[in-house]
Amino acid sequence: MKTTLKKAIKNIPVCINNYYGDPVIQWDNTINKLKKLADEKHEGIVSIITRGFINDEKAKELAEITKNLKFLVIVSVSELPERIEPLSHKERYQTIKNLKKAGIKVLPNVRPIIPEENGRPEVLESIFKNLADSGVDHIIISGFRGDDNLIDKMDLDKKIEWSLRIKIITPEINKIINDLSKKYNIRLSRRVACGVATEFMKIPDNPYYLSPQLVGCDSCPNYLMCQGAISRLPDPKLIDFLRKVGYDFEYTIEVPELCQVEPTKRTECPSCCTACYINKGPKIRINPEQEITLGDTAFIRFLTGVIGTQDGIYDPGGDTATAKVISNFVGRPVHLVNSWYVWSRQLNKCYGCTYCITEAYKIEEKDFGSSPEDLYNEIVEKMEEKGLLDD
Ligand code: SF4
Ligand code: SF4
Repeated sequence: MKTTLKKAIKNIPVCINNYYGDPVIQWDNTINKLKKLADEKHEGIVSIITRGFINDEKAKELAEITKNLKFLVIVSVSELPERIEPLSHKERYQTIKNLKKAGIKVLPNVRPIIPEENGRPEVLESIFKNLADSGVDHIIISGFRGDDNLIDKMDLDKKIEWSLRIKIITPEINKIINDLSKKYNIRLSRRVACGVATEFMKIPDNPYYLSPQLVGCDSCPNYLMCQGAISRLPDPKLIDFLRKVGYDFEYTIEVPELCQVEPTKRTECPSCCTACYINKGPKIRINPEQEITLGDTAFIRFLTGVIGTQDGIYDPGGDTATAKVISNFVGRPVHLVNSWYVWSRQLNKCYGCTYCITEAYKIEEKDFGSSPEDLYNEIVEKMEEKGLLDD
């Protein structure tokens, strides 16, 4: 079991310093974490997500440290006015150019899109033109999941929060984006995990190929590869491992059923696609009595490659990242978000973007997570203590 577990943990996707406090603000800490991942020869995708400025010198330093990692930088781009995002947009495009010049994979994520701000046609055109001028040919832009009437009724703060959480793009904006994508020859990925996976020609760590109509699989370069993953089954040793660390579940091996939800009706489905409890398929269905979060379902999914779920589980906001069962087992919080295993230092300062400043007053400096290898060592130590290891 140890070898199988080590391999699985070595392959989980890791995001560095993705909590409050941009990875560029805490550059030395970010670099040290990347060095450790490189030393440990982490094999999964590693990313940083930033709105900060990475100059030539920093880009070269990053390139040197990460040369043996599957590393990419996700640069958030929005061209939102300074009252919402008090940061230079020009520097964001320069960061993209500097990273490309240093040979680092860079994937812009256009977010958040707020209809009457950067959702206006002239701002969207400016974003696409600037991206194309920066040498970009692929971006992440989350798909349409909304309803015009609903958005119209919201005040600005609610729209921003909603745009970030539910990732709404109105049909009108969606059409403009599709037209601009063709005009500037920039491919769109509708989910972060898909965008990242296509950069590395890998199967995404979130099984969006089970809902192909929602994410645009038919126009994705990974289409054939992902088709092959629809029926994949996990290593039985990992199923055994999950039971040993305390997950109480039924493992169902059903013929997979692809999602039939129309993109325009996505908000009518109560489940999360990454923890879908609705469609049939190979799934790890946690006992409804067990207290878990979406962090637990991500942990199961990243390790096994199949969906971990529980009837009725959804994103209630608040702390959905602490994977309760594995955290209890190792005796400290283990955090995972939708697309990433989290290894982050949270700061009490960031750039002050309006859409997260509301949380700033209650945020204290704190470390979350560890390198995956350290997590593996902690798990093995606990298993040995409890006599749970058979090899
Ligand atoms: S084929 Fe579909 S699931 Fe696979 S990476 Fe592309 S969009 Fe994502
Ligand atoms: S959560 Fe809903 S929309 Fe997503 S795959 Fe499952 S059934 Fe489809």
